[in-house]
Order: sequence, then C-alpha cells, then structure tokens
Amino acid sequence: MPRLTLSLLFTLLLLAQLAAQQSDVVSQLPYARSIIDTLASPSMHGRGYVNKGDKIAANWISNEFKKFGLLSFNKSGSYEQPFSFPVNTFPGKVEMTFIWKDGRRETSDPGEHFIVRSSSPSVKGNFKVVRFDSSVVKTEAGIKAFLAQNLKKVFVLVDTTGVREKAKRDLLVNFVRFPRNVKGILIPVQLNVMHEHEGDNCTKLNPWDFSQTQSLVPVIEIESAWKTVSEIDIIVGAKFIRNYTSQNVIGYIRGSQQPDSFLVFTAHYDHLGQMGQRVYFPGANDNASGVAMLMCLAKHYSNPANRPKCSVVFIAFGAEEVGLIGSAWFCRNPLFPLNSIKFLINMDIIGTGDEGITVVNATLFDEDFKLMQKLNAQRSYLPLIKPRGKAAISDHFYFTERDVPCFYIYTMGGIRAYHDTCDRRETLPLTEFDDLFLLLVDFASVLDAA
Ligand SMILES: [Zn+2]
Repeated sequence: MPRLTLSLLFTLLLLAQLAAQQSDVVSQLPYARSIIDTLASPSMHGRGYVNKGDKIAANWISNEFKKFGLLSFNKSGSYEQPFSFPVNTFPGKVEMTFIWKDGRRETSDPGEHFIVRSSSPSVKGNFKVVRFDSSVVKTEAGIKAFLAQNLKKVFVLVDTTGVREKAKRDLLVNFVRFPRNVKGILIPVQLNVMHEHEGDNCTKLNPWDFSQTQSLVPVIEIESAWKTVSEIDIIVGAKFIRNYTSQNVIGYIRGSQQPDSFLVFTAHYDHLGQMGQRVYFPGANDNASGVAMLMCLAKHYSNPANRPKCSVVFIAFGAEEVGLIGSAWFCRNPLFPLNSIKFLINMDIIGTGDEGITVVNATLFDEDFKLMQKLNAQRSYLPLIKPRGKAAISDHFYFTERDVPCFYIYTMGGIRAYHDTCDRRETLPLTEFDDLFLLLVDFASVLDAA
C-alpha cells in the first residue's frame, strides 16, 4: 500500500465528510414510503388480531431489523417479546342491509355507512327498528308507554337530536350505556366527507377503538341520513379472545464507548385490525408513519459511519391501541435497566407536519426541549415545535411514570383521518418527514456525546 501524502489524506477526509453529509441529505422518503405501503396494505390486515395481522407485521419488522444487523436482547436471537391480553374481535361477517317501509333496501359494509362498537357481541337476523327519540320523550306518558313495550326482539334506534332537556337527554344516553331487554341499539351519527386529495372523498363515521370485554347487546352507529329505516338485516361475527398473545419487537446497536447507556426510539406498529372479513383499518398515519421513522433511524445508525457512542435501541410496540399494553408490559419486564436510558423518543402519528410538531413531556424535560428547539431554529427544519405537558396518550407514558426522560412526538396539520378507514397510505403526505428525521438525528447526536 503506497504511503499517503498529507494532502491526499486531507482530500480523502474531505471526500469522506462530503459523503457523510450526502448521506444525510439523501431523502428518507423512498424507504419510508415503502414501509408505509407494506404496513398499511391489505396483507397486514390492519395489524390487529383478525387473521393474525399483528404477527405478520411483527415478523416483517423483525426481518428489517435483521437486514440492518440489529442485535437482540434474547439469547435465542429473536427480537420478539411476547405478552397476552383479552380482546374482542370481529373475524366473521359484518354486514347490514337497511330496509325502508316502501321496500327500498341498501346493503353496506362497516366503515361506510355503519360501525359496530368495539365491545359488541355477535348478532344475526332480521329485526324491526323502534325509535326512542324526541317524539317519544316529549311527554311522560310517551316515555312510560315506550318503556312498557316488549323490546327483546327489536333494535332500538336512540336519537338525541332535538332533545334539549337534560333529564330527557340523560334518559336516552343511559339507555345506550346500560341497554336492557333489547336485541340491539342503533345510534345515528353524522357522516364526514374528507377532501384530503383532489377526487378522494373518503367518508368517515366516528373513530373506532378496541374493547377488552364483550358486552351483552350489540351497539351499531349508523349514518344519520339512514335513520329513517324500519327494519334491518344484520350479521355481526364477533369473537372474544380471553388470552391473545401479541408481541413487541426490540433490536439494538451496541455503542462504541458507552454500551451500557441507552438512547431509545419507539413506535407502535399495531393498529385496529379488521371489522369483519372485508374491511380493514390501514393505519397509515397511526402508526405506520412512526414505524417508518423507527426503521429509517435503524438504517441510519446501522451504517458503521454513524455508529453511536451509546447503545441505541429500537422498539416497535404491540397492542398500543388496546390500551398501551405492549409498552406497559415492557416497563414491567425491561430487557435492560430502565434507569440506564439516557433519553427515549416515542413517535406516533408523524405523517404530516405542515403545522409543525407537538412534544409531549416538554414541560417535564425543559432543558432537552430547549435543545430541540435550538437545533430546529439553527437548521430551519420544522415550522413550529409546540410544548405540551404530561399525557397518557401513547407508549411513552409508562416510561414517564418510571422517571425515564422521554418525549412523545406527533405532527400537526394536514389530514384529519384518525382511527377510521380513511387513514390510508394514498393520502398520507409525509410533509415534514425528512426534516423530522434530521432533527431527531441532530438531537440524538448531542445526547450521545453528552
Ligand atoms: Zn397510535
């Protein structure tokens, strides 16, 4: 090997530096898009508990971790940390045909004109619809006559529209909360039409969620324009699972100088799964976007040129949507000491950003928040970094409770899709994704050197 002259060495160093800068300016978007496209595709079944969508997603994430050569905390080499919980699911058919007095019929899939509340049990058959609304509660006699009926074989459509008196509203609301001796409940809700993209008019009802119990009476929300129906044909195939086993996916890169100190990035990969056989919730923004950032960071730090001094951990949590179950489990069963975490950053819903980001826990970790704002101002990344206090709304929460310094970051502005079938990859803008990536890398590099 020829001896390098000083000037050649200098040139090589300069080139290396340029290469490093180049790799930083290279957009993360192509890789991020490919991750979101995969996670939000029908083959992942909404990353819930119908068709084992959660396991397919966890497996796929494990394979990406492997590609980057991330290390495992398990002796087996697996990145997965299993845990179990009860959950109500809808693996069967979920369909409804609305029938009017004049014989008109309209068949619909859930998410389109109706939504089955997450705690609902199975139900099947043709049922008469009886109204419990302003016309019924107008007089005491009307209420009495309504409650005296045998409602065991009918669906009661409970409509609070136009009911202003508090006691009467409460009567209707409590009838939904504690339904008795009825076959089922229908609730009319306002339909929202989303105009996220030219020509894309996704319609949404109320946000969906999970229930860890199954109730005795099905409750179905229907588009309010269809509340004039007189009968329904309905089929809901629900299944309550007492002990579903899901998993977190955890990998790390060993630090070059302080391997027992940890910087941690987290993002939940689970979403709401399926409502019946035909309809799934893609969860592109919530939270394929956060997993995409997690993967971009894993890719970045697995490049030997970017090897950190501290160890860097990447956690894709499961069952966040069921109630922060994966992160709660991890905090009770950590794979490394929680008090050796220098800082943790949780990312959940980061697919927009035209109005900047919000940092939850900013008020608890003021110095770190100021550092983030300073870095952002220096490089003009994001239009706004808004501070917020403590909030039990994502996977950072149990870490906060255990005194782990952490932030939870979400983007603001852009689309309004949330916990509905409109949260799709096609309309996710990823407006500030690249800037947020650079900000996170800058922030982590200051903490890494500290
Ligand atoms: Zn989420």
